[in-house]
Amino acid sequence: MRLVITKASQLLTLRGKRNGPRAGRDLEDLGKVNDGYVAVDKGKIADVGRGRPPAADTVIDASGMTVMPGFVDPHTHLVFAGSRESELRMKLQGKTYMQILRAGGGIMSTVRATRLASIRLLEEIAAFRCELMLRHGTTTCEAKSGYGLDLETELKMLDAIKGIKTPMDIVPTFLGAHALPPEFAKTPDYIEFIIKKVLPRVKGRARFCDVFCEDGAFTLEDSRRLLTAAKKSGLVPKIHADEIKNIGGSSLAAELGAISADHLLATTDKDLTAMAKAGVMGVYLPATPFSLMMKEYPDVRRAIRKGVAVALATDFNPNAWTHSMPFVMNLACYKMGMTPAEAVTASTINAAWAIGMQDKVGSLEVGKQADIAIIGLPSHEHIPYRFGMNPVVCTIKKGKVVWMDPDYGPKVKN
Ligand SMILES: [Zn+2]
Repeated sequence: MRLVITKASQLLTLRGKRNGPRAGRDLEDLGKVNDGYVAVDKGKIADVGRGRPPAADTVIDASGMTVMPGFVDPHTHLVFAGSRESELRMKLQGKTYMQILRAGGGIMSTVRATRLASIRLLEEIAAFRCELMLRHGTTTCEAKSGYGLDLETELKMLDAIKGIKTPMDIVPTFLGAHALPPEFAKTPDYIEFIIKKVLPRVKGRARFCDVFCEDGAFTLEDSRRLLTAAKKSGLVPKIHADEIKNIGGSSLAAELGAISADHLLATTDKDLTAMAKAGVMGVYLPATPFSLMMKEYPDVRRAIRKGVAVALATDFNPNAWTHSMPFVMNLACYKMGMTPAEAVTASTINAAWAIGMQDKVGSLEVGKQADIAIIGLPSHEHIPYRFGMNPVVCTIKKGKVVWMDPDYGPKVKN
């Protein structure tokens, strides 16, 4: 064996159910092993058990710590240039997302900065962000385009996602329909442009096609047209649905068999039932209402009652700037009423399902990638319980240590 992690006070394998993401009571099943070890060989999990581990070149002593799968962040806008710190002041004055957008701020200022940036610059900025994510225990993420809104920049963004130098696994999503660019007066014309001119070039560059289905962004009909065309060209649909108003985004996700519907603030019981039936993952992004200073958070408990499999994500973007899944877990528990165990499942195996990565990552099972987060706390309940700190003391990606806290990291014997 190359590496063994042993003496974990709690080992969360998330093993078990293989035929689908976890819903209902299964969300609480973390596949816990007391006094457990994980053995790693050739970058993969070679053995998981309890008690005495096999001999290995390197032994990590995780006494007093929690060992779990690396976090999967299934919804990020990882690649963009610039920042929008001045909008915090506007938000404090009571301006809404749509008001800031109409004032030429918001997404359009990011679009301007991203169009100007070279692909090299975008790759370098994103690599640094990946480094921060790894330090917070995230080992796999999704990344969207959507700050180009023209052919050249959308392709530049997708190529930048591919070119990022990082150990992180990154799954690319095409989000050309993120906002209406200034060059187009009407959304149907823009959708037509995407379908005819951009989609054919996206093939091979992205795995998913996303759309911002919202009042003030793209209508239900625009979204249906785009995602139907995307499906034909081999992309799997995803939807930014019901973030502010419900114009039918989540039920469209069910109708089209989207892999996930994300945000879900204004989703109804009927939509949730349709999603559960169609196997659409609900991806919850509580850092977004937090950053928008909204009083309401999505009702994830209702989704869980309705049998929807749920995942959590940061929604990292210039408006909600966090790389931390543990922070998202704080919000999930304190603001949305998830239990700590549910938040762990939603940030690991279910998050992997939300981006089609469940066969490789999201649980500690023999044959899967050795993507591991070591938490410097004795149980998973501490992760959402404590806030304003980074609980991750060591991150392992494909069997290699990629982050080690110099003060609080586990002891390593070679
Ligand atoms: Zn988003």
